[in-house]
Amino acid sequence: MNIVLLGIQGSGKGTLVQDLSKHLDFSLVSVGALLREEIATGSELGKLIKSKTDKGELVDIKIVIETVKRKLSQNRKPIVIFDGFPRSSEQADELDKICNVDLAIYLNLKKEDAIKRIMNRLTCSKCGNITTRVKCPDLICPVCKGKLTVRSDDSPEAVNKRFEQYELETYPLIERYKKHGVLVAEIDASKTPDEVLKAVMKVIK
Ligand code: AMP
Repeated sequence: MNIVLLGIQGSGKGTLVQDLSKHLDFSLVSVGALLREEIATGSELGKLIKSKTDKGELVDIKIVIETVKRKLSQNRKPIVIFDGFPRSSEQADELDKICNVDLAIYLNLKKEDAIKRIMNRLTCSKCGNITTRVKCPDLICPVCKGKLTVRSDDSPEAVNKRFEQYELETYPLIERYKKHGVLVAEIDASKTPDEVLKAVMKVIK
């Protein structure tokens, strides 16, 4: 079963996959996280990727597809969840060539709420755990004791650019998948992480 997660930045896609992994065995293709891993290596490719992500721009599709295929070639499980991919109809076409999409989960959240969440978001620089300033004011990761930081692409300029890109290119994918006969499950992402998790589990099971 191949599942794509759609939703504006800050709608809780990362938190959802984190919570789902405690209840479901799946392969996760989280393109943003994979790109951040490449950036962390300090490679030339990583530097190129960072020059895009820091501005909130999309990374070149060839790099993205290569990243997705490499991840899928490693220990692929019967359930695959794509987080942050596809982000445009061009990427959706590429994904169609790789596999069938069985389900799209659309985390629906108002832009104003998404902004509030992004402002509160912290990510562990060591293990990638996502949490909030409210939960961890000491900036220490509760999972691995690593340092919690603000993502470098969570600056107001980059966030605005990502919102623009989402509205223009990613949001229309909901209609695209409906037209293609893919089940699109709309989830109210303003609810608590537990409620969102329950709603998503109902759809998947
Ligand atoms: P995310 O972790 O999903 O918020 O992604 C962080 C950043 O990585 C985005 O703002 C883009 O610069 C880049 N990125 C993530 N996924 C993609 C994708 N599917 N295509 C192009 N760039 C991406």
